[in-house]
Amino acid sequence: MPGLRSRHTMGPGLDFVDLPSLSAAVHNCRRCPLGHSRTKAVPGVGPASARIMIVGEAPGQNEDLQGEPFVGAAGKLLDQLLRGIGLSRGDVFITNILKCRPPGNRDPQPAEAEACSPYLEEQLRLIKPEVVLVLGRHALARLLPGYESISRLHGKVVSKDGVTYIPVYHPAAALYNSFLMGPLEQDFKAVRAHLDRAEERRQALAIAATPVPKPEEQLTLFG
Ligand code: URA
Repeated sequence: MPGLRSRHTMGPGLDFVDLPSLSAAVHNCRRCPLGHSRTKAVPGVGPASARIMIVGEAPGQNEDLQGEPFVGAAGKLLDQLLRGIGLSRGDVFITNILKCRPPGNRDPQPAEAEACSPYLEEQLRLIKPEVVLVLGRHALARLLPGYESISRLHGKVVSKDGVTYIPVYHPAAALYNSFLMGPLEQDFKAVRAHLDRAEERRQALAIAATPVPKPEEQLTLFG
């Protein structure tokens, strides 16, 4: 298949050259039964250069019809939360654990998440985001298995295998339970604070790496 490199490693991994070839493979995917029941596959949207990757649970009805993640009510709230910390959709890459809609919006089944996981692994490898926002308990269980529950871990920075994650409540959960709205907004503030700290570190490193001119060079520079 064009865009898919052969990989001489063990396991059922995939190895794409870029995001468009990964998306094309998702649109043709039949690795699990959801590939037969979906209307449109939903690989994910956003620039390959995104500093932030957002991982939700699975496409719902609107996403299945449009082929884009987070286009319904939860998506509107996500956009609002992003705006609240000075970001927009264009700044982030948004995807889900499952790339196809489970019938009736039921929870993802472990076998479906397993079959779909090579795509997410490849998206992580190609994008190398500075931080991954893990939306809700299903994405948390998949990306950080064995860690604490979402109610304990939300808003905290977790590093695992060289990737930085911040679990946050799922926007859909806050739409159903309004008492989660405040904590969800706080979670996004924690994301902003993390990005600001990372930016400060980057600037400090850039200053430290700038060579200081020797006194004789300063003389030639300034007369
Ligand atoms: N829409 C998505 O794309 N993912 C979710 O998890 C919820 C709504």
